[in-house]
Amino acid sequence: MGKTGKVYLVGAGPGNPDLLTVKAKELIEGAEAVVYDRLIGEAIIALLPETALKINVGKEAGYHPVPQEEINRILVEEARKGRDVVRLKGGDSFVFGRGGEELEELIQAGITFEVVPGITSAIAAAAYAGIPVTHRDYASSLHIITGHRKKDGKLDLDYDSLVGLEGTLIFLMSLSSLDQLIKGLLAAGMSPSMDCALIENGTRPYQRKVLGSLSNIEDLAAAQAIVSPALFIVGRVCSLATQFDWFDRLPLKGRRILAVQHQKTGRRLAAALSRLGAEVRLLPLMETKVLDFALPDLTPYTTLVFTSANGVDAYFQQLLAAGQDCRFLAGKKLAAVGSQTGEAFLKYGLYPDFVPSLFQGETLAREMLANNLLTPSDRLLLLQAKEASPGLGKALDEGGIPYDSLAIYETFYNHQDLPADLKSYDWITFTAASCVEGLARCAAEAGAPAADFTGLPALCIGPTTAEKARQLGMKVTLPPEATISSMADTLVSIYSSANA
Ligand code: SAH
Repeated sequence: MGKTGKVYLVGAGPGNPDLLTVKAKELIEGAEAVVYDRLIGEAIIALLPETALKINVGKEAGYHPVPQEEINRILVEEARKGRDVVRLKGGDSFVFGRGGEELEELIQAGITFEVVPGITSAIAAAAYAGIPVTHRDYASSLHIITGHRKKDGKLDLDYDSLVGLEGTLIFLMSLSSLDQLIKGLLAAGMSPSMDCALIENGTRPYQRKVLGSLSNIEDLAAAQAIVSPALFIVGRVCSLATQFDWFDRLPLKGRRILAVQHQKTGRRLAAALSRLGAEVRLLPLMETKVLDFALPDLTPYTTLVFTSANGVDAYFQQLLAAGQDCRFLAGKKLAAVGSQTGEAFLKYGLYPDFVPSLFQGETLAREMLANNLLTPSDRLLLLQAKEASPGLGKALDEGGIPYDSLAIYETFYNHQDLPADLKSYDWITFTAASCVEGLARCAAEAGAPAADFTGLPALCIGPTTAEKARQLGMKVTLPPEATISSMADTLVSIYSSANA
């Protein structure tokens, strides 16, 4: 028999990828096989490598869960195949996660394991709802309790003790037994005015919370149609929730954004918007491939022009592979379309000599000519995408500036299913014109009924991208500068002026 794999019992936290531990993130990103539950959340599943074997054993209340024995069997079987298995569980594996049962099974089967603790939803959801689970003035103990009923429908709780503790009570799996819990606490003498809170989808961008007292929380929850996963917190600390709230106050909280982007380079905008509280769905439609080009002799050229960060990376990949470094470019002027392109040079120890005010090839030519940075005695080499738009070349022709161009990378379209609820997004963001084309193609390939983009709000990085989005009938917003941070700032100022 070959080698047996190891099982990593990993707590994935409450569902927001920012709350993974460093070790959990490393294991997830390098996983060969993953066995996961429903509560993990889409955003974390998206971090799994494409090549990983993914087994969803989602335990969904009311549906047909994979029985625990079957999960145990899968873990043992996969490990015996010689794979390391990442067993991902919501929150922490031992907080009502049945982690112990799985370990007992692994021990019996002689399979080695490691345990990676996770941030339990009990504490994380409270923190994201502005509730400090202990506070010297309000609660000196904290209790995490299951509200899951037994088969006979009864909750087996010692309410007298719970009330006597005078601490913070956090009930998990409690939504369907809320009425019983409240009756029990009241009957044991807790005040009907005791503060409490329900937190649905805690820490996720679409988190909702309901604050109230034991006497009205059920009605409030029903009015808001609170659904699972949710937790119920009872205790005086809940009275601080409004004052300590920070999450609901984030400038883009509650906004839904579809980020159409390049597979590798597009995540910066999505990350920036998520940090501002937005719910971001990624649509990685485009991928870049470096073409196998021969390094051109640079002697005839005075100036090298790069039109994207991908281009800079592609060129340097080839340069370094040929055993050369940035000295190969000595004496050449460097021009970059777009500040991201300019920033890409820094990685290789170079500063660009010129970055135009707009993310647009024509503007680069026009502004360099206007500033006498180009004369007909110059000769340019444009290092760009195979599918580069002709604007830059045309503007140089008009200015009488000689140039050659070399295709150094190619952008590929990578089909994804278009979200069915396209109209429900507050914004669709585009960080390159190719992304707009990708979206149109994606819709065309999906066939009838054809997606209608008319009037959809598009946030575009620069004028070339904007033009393409306008052609699809979208309602375009442009940031003052063609940068990721200017895009994010634009949304923040739209919503902060709306709220002022
Ligand atoms: N091991 C998990 C808990 C599993 S029990 C942990 O440590 O978090 C499942 C219950 O956890 C749900 O019924 C709900 O009460 C709670 N829960 C899990 N994720 C949650 C979230 N993001 N927001 C609110 N409650 C959550």
